[in-house]
Amino acid sequence: MSQSKGRLYVISAPSGAGKTSLVAALLKELDQLEVSVSHTTRNIRPGEETGVNYHFVEKSAFQDLVEAGAFFEHAEVFGNLYGTSRLAVQERLNLGIDVILEIDWQGAQQVRKQMPEAIGIFILPPSLSALNERLNARGQDSAEVIAGRMQQAISEMSHWQEYDYLLVNDDFAQALAELKAIFVANRLELARQQAKNATLLAELIPA
Ligand code: GDP
Ligand code: ADP
Ligand code: 5GP
Repeated sequence: MSQSKGRLYVISAPSGAGKTSLVAALLKELDQLEVSVSHTTRNIRPGEETGVNYHFVEKSAFQDLVEAGAFFEHAEVFGNLYGTSRLAVQERLNLGIDVILEIDWQGAQQVRKQMPEAIGIFILPPSLSALNERLNARGQDSAEVIAGRMQQAISEMSHWQEYDYLLVNDDFAQALAELKAIFVANRLELARQQAKNATLLAELIPA
C-alpha cells in the first residue's frame, strides 16, 4: 500500500477516551477526510449499523478475509477480531482523500511497518476515573465488558510513545481544536501546497 495523494492517520486511545466522538466531530469540520470502516466480529451495539460504524461479520467470514489477504492490518482486541480493509483505504488515498484509522496499538504497529509515513495520534483521557465514567455514561457495554476495557486501558496507554502526536481529551472543544490543528498543519506542508497551488506558483514565480 502506498500513501499516494492522501495522508493516512492512525488514531489510538483506550476504549472510552473519546476517539470516535472526536473523529466524528472532525469529519464535520474538514473536507477531503474520511474514516475507514473496520470489519469486526464483536456484537453490534444499539444504534450501530453495519457498513456505518463497522462491517459486522462472523468469525468465519473474518478469517476468510484474513486468508485472502484483504486486511491492511488486523488484531484481536478485547476478545474480538478487528481489521482494516486494504482496498478500501488504498482507493480513498489514491483519490487524494485523507483517511483516518481508529485502531488499537497492535494494528498501529502493523501500519507503521508497511507505511512509515502514516501519522500517529494517541488520545489520553484526563484520568482513569474519567475514563471509567465515560465508558459507563456511553451506556453501550455491560459492566463486565467495561471492567475488561478498564483493565486493558493501561496496557493500551503504555504505547503512547510510538505515536507522533499526543492529545488529552479533557475539554472536548479544546481537544477537537487541537486534533484539527494537526490535520490542518499537515495539509500546509510544502509538498502538499506545491501540488495544490501549482498554477499560482507558476504565475507568481515565472520560470
Ligand atoms: P471503542 O473504542 O470503545 O469505541 O470500542 P470498539 O469496541 O468500537 O473498538 C474497540 C477497539 O478496537 C478500539 O478502541 C480500537 O482500538 C480497536 N479497533 C477498532 N477497529 C479496529 C481495526 O480495524 N483494527 C484494529 N487493529 N483495531 C481496531
Ligand atoms: P472511544 O471511541 O475512544 O471509545 P467515545 O467517542 O465513544 O470513545 O467516547 C466515550 C464516551 O465519552 C462517549 O459517551 C462520549 O460522548 C464521551 N466523551 C467523549 N469526549 C468527552 C469529553 N471531553 N468529556 C466528557 N465526555 C466525553
Ligand atoms: P469498539 O469495539 O469499542 O468500537 O473498539 C474496541 C477497540 O478496537 C478499540 O481500541 C478500537 O480502536 C479497536 N479497533 C476498532 N477497529 C479496529 C481496526 O480496524 N483495527 C484495529 N487494529 N483495531 C480496531
